[in-house]
Amino acid sequence: MAVKSVALVAHDNKKKELVEWANENRTRLAPLRLYATGTTGRLLRESLGREDLNCLLSGPLGGDQQIGAKIAEGEIDLLVFFWDPLEPQPHDPDIKALLRIAALWNIPVACNRATAEFVLTSAYMTDDQHHPQKPDFSDYTGREVNQ
Ligand code: PGA
Repeated sequence: MAVKSVALVAHDNKKKELVEWANENRTRLAPLRLYATGTTGRLLRESLGREDLNCLLSGPLGGDQQIGAKIAEGEIDLLVFFWDPLEPQPHDPDIKALLRIAALWNIPVACNRATAEFVLTSAYMTDDQHHPQKPDFSDYTGREVNQ
């Protein structure tokens, strides 16, 4: 069975909520491969006791971009990203880039707890046969360009 991969990111004011949500859903997350930005990942590792959680760089140090790259390479099935709507972030361009690349590649994105609950309890999460449609960019990549 193909293991689904989930990327987890939370801004500082949202980390507590993400950790709480992850603990509530510990059993559902158990069979999934987990990736997270540095600080989020450290907190989740400690709280869930998941030594297998893959910690990337901290978000502002490139972690958001690492997750974006994994999405573009087809390695991530779900992005849980509790971003903070009340506080500006120094790495705002990276956040926009991550949300853009997830939209581009048709990856489900949960930006708050309510959505995360819906997505994680979806029958698709445990359906080995279900894969969201991969976009076809052949028109774009094969387009004529002025030289
Ligand atoms: P962090 O990064 O988990 O390293 O804090 C999150 C972010 O701000 O993108």
